[in-house]
Amino acid sequence: MDFSLNDEQRMILDTVRQFVTRELMPLERKVVEAEIENRAFPDPETLRGLRSRAKDLGLWGLTEPKEYGGADLGSLTAALVTIETSRALVPFQYGGHVPNLLYSCTPAQRSRYLLPLLAEERRVAFAMSEPNIGTDAGAMQTTAVWSGTHWVINGQKTWISRGHKADFAIVLAVTDKALRARGGITAFLVDREMGFESRPLVMMAQSDMGDAQPAELNFKDTVVPAENVLGEVGNGLKAAMATIGHSRIQASARAIGAAQRLLEMAVEYAKVRISFGKPLADYQAIQWMLADSAVELRSALWLTLHAGWKVDQGLETRFEESMAKLTGAQTAWRVADRVLQIHGAMGYSKELPIERVMRQLRVYRIYEGADELQKINIAKGLINGSGSLTF
Ligand SMILES: Cc1cc2nc3c(=O)[nH]c(=O)nc-3n(C[C@H](O)[C@H](O)[C@H](O)COP(=O)(O)OP(=O)(O)OC[C@H]3O[C@@H](n4cnc5c(N)ncnc54)[C@H](O)[C@@H]3O)c2cc1C
Repeated sequence: MDFSLNDEQRMILDTVRQFVTRELMPLERKVVEAEIENRAFPDPETLRGLRSRAKDLGLWGLTEPKEYGGADLGSLTAALVTIETSRALVPFQYGGHVPNLLYSCTPAQRSRYLLPLLAEERRVAFAMSEPNIGTDAGAMQTTAVWSGTHWVINGQKTWISRGHKADFAIVLAVTDKALRARGGITAFLVDREMGFESRPLVMMAQSDMGDAQPAELNFKDTVVPAENVLGEVGNGLKAAMATIGHSRIQASARAIGAAQRLLEMAVEYAKVRISFGKPLADYQAIQWMLADSAVELRSALWLTLHAGWKVDQGLETRFEESMAKLTGAQTAWRVADRVLQIHGAMGYSKELPIERVMRQLRVYRIYEGADELQKINIAKGLINGSGSLTF
């Protein structure tokens, strides 16, 4: 078992570190000031500039195929890049990311949806969750009925990231009520002009949302042509679930990177904050919080990298992806809480980024599959044998 990075990975991470220290970390103070003034930062123009400079360094479309101009890093290297990038406490993600599901498009769909998305000329939202269903996606209520010449969609989606800004949405809808999750849910490419309305929703980490701010989408007799089915009729949910797992690895990586940076802040603070005549770092109660955080973060890191490695080997990864996402999300939240505790009132205030990052980290325990869903997947893996410990 060899845990060392290859030359290419080292080179990529050096580039990422340069970008993070030169471009992102100097903005951290501005993010704190914006938070105090109750406005979002980076603003769209700053974000565009950052993305474009990152693109010049090859940091764009991290996991997208080379033939589409992506970096095609693979899941493990992309996770390393994401961890390093998330250490900057600045809301930022590299450009050129496309929902994997879109690669199942037809040639005509490619030029209308996939290519403009990669060129950042259009924006997409992925619409699965609804007001009455979330985790239990197979029970969705939005329907698409074939009229003989086109599909007609009716229903409501909610919590849809970028839902208010998207030019089109990948919408999952029931096309066969008897089959549902077993071949009765289809994915559609729905342009805003085909007729859906959106309402932005205000979230806990609002200032971090940027363009990704979730929205409610309403479909009322929305007419969608036959050629806008994405993939096969009836295969939408299955295809979505097959691709969603990989993004869980990157979600875990984002949480781990930010929590690692918070831990480093706590170590520095503990060394200089004097209480009862000694630095906090001299007290065992504080040391244990630091030690627990380091061990838990390192465990989450290895689970995440291992899951990424398995994806890159083309192995079955549902079990590992769930373990990585669950541990990354829960650990980051616990670490943030301890870091805030070590900083006392300073941690609770907006003078430092801790409370903001903590609010941002909370979402990882809910989206991309909540903690409980990950545990359901893990338990299933144990029961059906796919999660057996083998070497
Ligand atoms: C910021 C943000 C962005 C999002 N972006 C998108 C998006 O782009 N597209 C999209 O489709 N959705 C999106 N979502 C929705 C997200 O996928 C759902 O929130 C998630 O799937 C959980 O569904 P729910 O919130 O309806 O919770 P529910 O399914 O109602 O569950 C409520 C709670 O009960 C638990 N629970 C549910 N079932 C079980 C069970 N069987 N056993 C034990 N516990 C259970 C859940 O884990 C959760 O803790 C987003 C959510 C957020 C917060």
